[in-house]
Amino acid sequence: MSKHVTHWIEGQPWTGTAERHGDIYDPATGALTGTVDFASVREVDDAVAAAAAAFPGWRATSLAKRVAVLFRFRELINARREELAALIVSEHGKVHADALGEVARGIEVVEFACGIPQLLKGGFTDQASTGVEVYELQQPLGPVAIISPFNFPAMVPMWFFPIAVATGNTVIVKPSEKDPSAANWLAALWKEAGLPDGVFNVVHGDKVAVDRILEHPDVKAVSFVGSTPIARYVYENGTRYGKRVQALGGAKNHMLVLPDADLDLAADSAVNAGFGAAGERCMAVSVLVAVDPIGDELVGRITERMARLRVGPGCSPASEMGPLVTGVHRDKVTSYLDSGVQAGATLVVDGRKHPIDSHAETGVDTGNGFWLGPTLFDHVTREMPIYTDEIFGPVLSVVRAHSYEEALELINSNLYGNGVAIFTNDGGAATRFRNEVEVGMVGINVPIPVPVAYYSFGGWKNSLFGDSHAYGTQGVHFYTRTKAVTQRWLDPSHGGINLGFPTNG
Ligand code: NAD
Repeated sequence: MSKHVTHWIEGQPWTGTAERHGDIYDPATGALTGTVDFASVREVDDAVAAAAAAFPGWRATSLAKRVAVLFRFRELINARREELAALIVSEHGKVHADALGEVARGIEVVEFACGIPQLLKGGFTDQASTGVEVYELQQPLGPVAIISPFNFPAMVPMWFFPIAVATGNTVIVKPSEKDPSAANWLAALWKEAGLPDGVFNVVHGDKVAVDRILEHPDVKAVSFVGSTPIARYVYENGTRYGKRVQALGGAKNHMLVLPDADLDLAADSAVNAGFGAAGERCMAVSVLVAVDPIGDELVGRITERMARLRVGPGCSPASEMGPLVTGVHRDKVTSYLDSGVQAGATLVVDGRKHPIDSHAETGVDTGNGFWLGPTLFDHVTREMPIYTDEIFGPVLSVVRAHSYEEALELINSNLYGNGVAIFTNDGGAATRFRNEVEVGMVGINVPIPVPVAYYSFGGWKNSLFGDSHAYGTQGVHFYTRTKAVTQRWLDPSHGGINLGFPTNG
């Protein structure tokens, strides 16, 4: 039976009739499994109105009560993580273990937000001037919006909303239209956890919904994650309308392998980080920079490992890599295989030839699924589109470099600066790289350096527009604004007229 996904406004599913819809697919089979309503301006306005109405009550709710709801939410999602993972697999296509990993990383942020009373403790100064006390309040902003991409339908919204809710804001989530169900699942869980209606709302849709969020005067802040052109658009327009905006964009993540590195570890890591989630991760490694003379050896070890990868439906426990999210995206990624060859790169492993686990092996008819196997290019150079473009698929490019300096210059010249990794056993070289590289998140012998929840996630250059990274203490700052209070309690000696600027004494 075909499913129908609609908005979640004021604690319940929307009951209206949408004028426009999007299609939802099972990427493993290619089957159309349902539709999702697309919001018009009116539904966005209704969701914002619900969030605005819930704001005064929620911001006035004690920290103890807010945290009690967060703890219940954490317990519920933890108990039902398999259910959420299965939902992600059915619409995104990633393998079940990977979907569970996504949920676990989201739960980490909920756990971080459970500590909000500690995080909101402000400073206090006694006797700043005679009899004068100064302190700072961190107050919520109001209704805030979260606009998320398809590749982490649960984790990316969870980077933001636990902290937004914990700090006393109300929320409107606009998920990707490609895998919209996880957001509604999370909304229903919030209700079960005791969150008042209207604090957490979901509107589905496309540019129409996003544009209305950006211009709506009652939306005070926007957290966006997606491709760089849209991130830039959201940042420029959201700030033009006076909002606080953090807009995380695309990536081209390099993995630098120095000659002294453990080549087996480096090959394992390149395969894991290049082809996990079919390369549809903003922290996926898409360029491996091999410093002479290890290039041939490393390409050989990676090639051996790629041949053994099991590609099949995400619901099958044997699968290590699933399909791409849509047929259109698969075709776009596949077009880069021809583009790379035309530009003169060596196609070492052609993903079009990789076997896909069959119906007999998995019980799933994969015949029309959105498949492309892992692909490896060697001798890629910096002008080629396979190097300059974010492909967002299972395509790994190897660039050869003569020296550390040449490799560093390549990485720092790239327009993106999300994640980067260095593989070496030389602590001095790793420290130098850590200091010199112009990238927001650095892994040293760690291929996907997504920070834990009590640090913050964010790239540099075209990978992030705005001043705040996601989650951690930067997330708390993003969702609060400070108010400095200077007070004294009256004493008759404080009277008298003085038109001079107040000084401390
Ligand atoms: P996308 O930019 O197509 O979509 C992201 C969101 O923007 C979706 O909610 C979508 O509905 C909306 N959107 C799409 N087109 C729009 C338009 N013209 N106007 C207004 N809104 C629009 O991204 P995607 O394909 O869903 O996700 C993949 C991209 O996200 C990749 O570029 C990836 O690197 C990036 N990403 C970045 C991070 C990060 O932390 N930097 C994390 C995950 C994904």
